[in-house]
Amino acid sequence: MAKITLDNLAHSYLPNPGHEDDFALKELNHDWIDGEAYALLGASGCGKSTLLNIISGLLQPSQGRILFNDVDVTNAPTAERNIAQVFQFPVVYDTMTVRDNLAFPLRNRGADASYVAERVQQIAQMIGMEDELNRKARGLTADAKQKISLGRGMVREDVNALLFDEPLTVIDPHMKWELRTQLKSLHHEFGHTMIYVTHDQTEALTFADKVVVMYDGRVVQIGTPQELFERPAHTFVGYFIGSPGMNLFDAQISGNAAQVAGASINLNKTYAPKGGKTQLGVRPEFIRLNGEGLGLPAKVTRVEDVGRHKIIRLDVAGQPVSAIAEEGATVPSENTAISFDPAGINVYADDWRISAEGEAA
Ligand code: ADP
Ligand code: MG
Repeated sequence: MAKITLDNLAHSYLPNPGHEDDFALKELNHDWIDGEAYALLGASGCGKSTLLNIISGLLQPSQGRILFNDVDVTNAPTAERNIAQVFQFPVVYDTMTVRDNLAFPLRNRGADASYVAERVQQIAQMIGMEDELNRKARGLTADAKQKISLGRGMVREDVNALLFDEPLTVIDPHMKWELRTQLKSLHHEFGHTMIYVTHDQTEALTFADKVVVMYDGRVVQIGTPQELFERPAHTFVGYFIGSPGMNLFDAQISGNAAQVAGASINLNKTYAPKGGKTQLGVRPEFIRLNGEGLGLPAKVTRVEDVGRHKIIRLDVAGQPVSAIAEEGATVPSENTAISFDPAGINVYADDWRISAEGEAA
């Protein structure tokens, strides 16, 4: 297992990149702590696979270095990096049995037969394929083949890191949950450094200790699920994580007050934005519905009952806003007013969160 350091890393698929936009992966410095389980979360095309393939050595970065336990491996081939990687689509040997597919990485490293047999049995149980060990992989469903790929990724106990690139895409929904749980327990058991790529926030938040959020080739925040929820470092994190995502309000900010759609809002803290576009970010959980006249005028446009709570869709000065209210709460019929719980207000300048005076960054 290893700590993985990304030092000044960046990648462009173009031969002579000039502008920042030419980079699929913008400059990045980061330590992946030994033994932690990370999710790498972001929309399609934001650079997740690019980053993963650089770590595993399938791709040479156009700039910067990768270190495993402080040893430079930037030019080391994949095989020397001692990494297991599972891809979005199955990679299996069709002519081999399920057993031989699973055993392959172990035999390849010269593990002894009794250990191989025992470990393959264990893995087969984890992926729910004990009864199919003697079958040839050919003819199995894509779902079953992907489970074999996952099993093969997990079979070695001595890897530096386990990398998963959207591995559950072709797996049916029920089995997804089951396999994710298995991956988690594997992590608890062996303490591998794990990086799990997904575009699904639920998957990311349930799998990982730390979530690395990428947007447009850039890592915009690394944090616990709670940190991403409470203090989104970038407006994208606020919008992408949470259901519904964070509301954004254009605001003029001076000291501890914000002007939003003609109303003055007390921030309880003092901010000094240095120009640029300033906004308040308020998650639906922190929007309060008051009586008409008490706050920002709002119109209820729709109410969605989603079980434990209600999502209230509002129109505030022509802009859609979502609020969450408790199941039993009375919802005003149409005209109402909203206010923000000061504890749930984040302030953004040009999309990046800024700290209040006296608050740690
Ligand atoms: P993700 O895995 O987050 O969906 P990728 O890392 O695959 O994103 O892609 C990031 C960006 O790099 C995208 O704009 C994609 O089109 C581009 N890209 C990916 N692979 C290649 C490639 N082999 N050649 C050129 N551009 C690529
Ligand atoms: Mg990808």
